[in-house]
Amino acid sequence: MADTETRCGFIAVLGAPNVGKSTLINQVIGTKVSIVSPKVQTTRTRVLGIHLEGDAQIIFIDTPGIFQPRRRLDRAMVAAAWSGAADADAVLLLVDAARGMDGNTREIVGKLKESGRKALLAINKIDLVKKPDLLKLASDLHAAADFTETFMISARAGDGVADLVSHLAGAVPAGPWMFPEDQISDMPQRLLAAEITREQLYLQLQQELPYAATVETESWEERQDGSAKINQVIYVERTSQRAIVLGKGGSRIKSLGAAARTELEQIFERRIHLFLFVKIRESWGDDPERYRDWGLDFNA
Ligand code: GDP
Ligand code: MG
Repeated sequence: MADTETRCGFIAVLGAPNVGKSTLINQVIGTKVSIVSPKVQTTRTRVLGIHLEGDAQIIFIDTPGIFQPRRRLDRAMVAAAWSGAADADAVLLLVDAARGMDGNTREIVGKLKESGRKALLAINKIDLVKKPDLLKLASDLHAAADFTETFMISARAGDGVADLVSHLAGAVPAGPWMFPEDQISDMPQRLLAAEITREQLYLQLQQELPYAATVETESWEERQDGSAKINQVIYVERTSQRAIVLGKGGSRIKSLGAAARTELEQIFERRIHLFLFVKIRESWGDDPERYRDWGLDFNA
């Protein structure tokens, strides 16, 4: 890197829950660094996805979805999202083409305009809508706030993503890289492993249960043969929820474990022995300790 100029900076990805922020980050990075779910509010931690584009290191802040906060946990997530945007070199607003200007997006756009912050606009899920509707949405958005650039993408299929990323590479300032060139996330392995299991809770359980559940990696043991033994605890709030997670004769937790393990082996590219336990911990949503683990502000 002696005679080329490197660039490096933070891109805050803003957007209502479910617009595809995690999908976009994972698409860019090329592997899962942020969990994706068809249900809302799955991202609790500010995951950094790190991507090298030519000489530019782009550090994505995958903010928790911004929405009307009610519970303490929600307030903490919203605060984390906006502080992420304030610190970033550029802000990328993601909008769901099919949902258009819903209440959440309207709110975020309003706040952006208020802050005087210029942002890049990416309209996602273009595979779901017709072109005239897309153009109408883009012009509505431009009428509502200042966007320096507009991209039409499908984060899932990858359409338009390369174009967006090469633009972002130009948007970050000159400067030394902040991470080693092969690093793709600053999320500790233990935390990522817990997120993968939590994702399975969302995917496999239809009840509202997952919103009251959290997963923690209790131990991570390196084995001689190159494999790792991971013990995780799924915390729920009530006995009835524990029964749901366990399933009949332990069938549910078995399939949760099997799916999470497969995923973990792909991500970490090694054999994983995963052991899941379910414990009851009442009102963890009010426990300051949990907020610290997630890098959130308990008092937001
Ligand atoms: P986040 O809450 O903004 O991080 O959203 P996620 O990345 O978790 O995605 C929410 C849902 O939208 C998931 O079911 C994704 O598979 C889906 N999704 C994301 N990008 C696209 C896309 O380009 N097209 C379609 N059809 N669905 C998408
Ligand atoms: Mg997400």
